[in-house]
Formats: sequence, C-alpha cells, structure tokens
Amino acid sequence: MADSLLSHVGIAVADLGEAIKRYEVITGRSPVMVTEVADQKVKVAMFAAGGHESGGRIELVAATADDSPIAKYIAKRGEGLHHICIYVEDIDQRLAELKKEGYRLIDETPRIGAEGNRIAFVHPSAGGGVLIELEEKK
Ligand code: ZN
Repeated sequence: MADSLLSHVGIAVADLGEAIKRYEVITGRSPVMVTEVADQKVKVAMFAAGGHESGGRIELVAATADDSPIAKYIAKRGEGLHHICIYVEDIDQRLAELKKEGYRLIDETPRIGAEGNRIAFVHPSAGGGVLIELEEKK
C-alpha cells in the first residue's frame, strides 16, 4: 500500500502533444507513460517524481473522440483540473460502503485504468464538486 493518499490529479487538455511539451517545461521531466485508454476514449500522459506507483502524479487527459467524456468536459468548462485520484486498499469494499451510504457513483463496478489498476469514478456531488477516481493497487 502506498504511503500517499493521492495517486494523481487529472487535468483535461485539448491537445495532448502540446500539453506534454508544456508540462515537460513545468516539471523538468518527461512523462513516465503515454497511453490510450480505448474504452474511455482518451489518451493520457503521466508525470511522476517517482515510478508509476508513486503518489502525487500528474495525469494529462485528452479526448480521442468527440463523444469522449473529456471532449464533453472541455466543451462545457474548458481545459483544467478534471479529477483527483485516491488510493484505496480494497476498491470493492470502498464502493460497497459508498453505495450503502447513498453516495452517487459513476462506476458501480471497477474497471481497468490507464496503468492497469482497478479504478472507479465517484460522482462530483459526493466529492464536494470534485470528480473522484478511486484506484486500487495491484
Ligand atoms: Zn485519473
């Protein structure tokens, strides 16, 4: 289990290549990973001070299709902070608990995220206006 509660912050960007260049200047690093998540219709680039599993990473997220959730988000609100991702030990247990307490979930069951871990999104209404991603480590 990670020492960090925060896995990463997700930032919605219009042009991934251009955003990677800007974040290379901002962070002084290259992304540790650039990949496509087909079922979410996004491409992501991850910046990290440590490895993949280190906490406090920055994830740039760009749409690969007009009906991608990220395309809709940018059309509505523009580029910017999209979600925060929190490490949980047992994602099934956490989702069951949230459901029991009446929290609105976007994903009732976990799916596989960009880095191969099981993830699930919790609706912003449950997170004080912030979209929350839960991530379980392998
Ligand atoms: Zn994320």
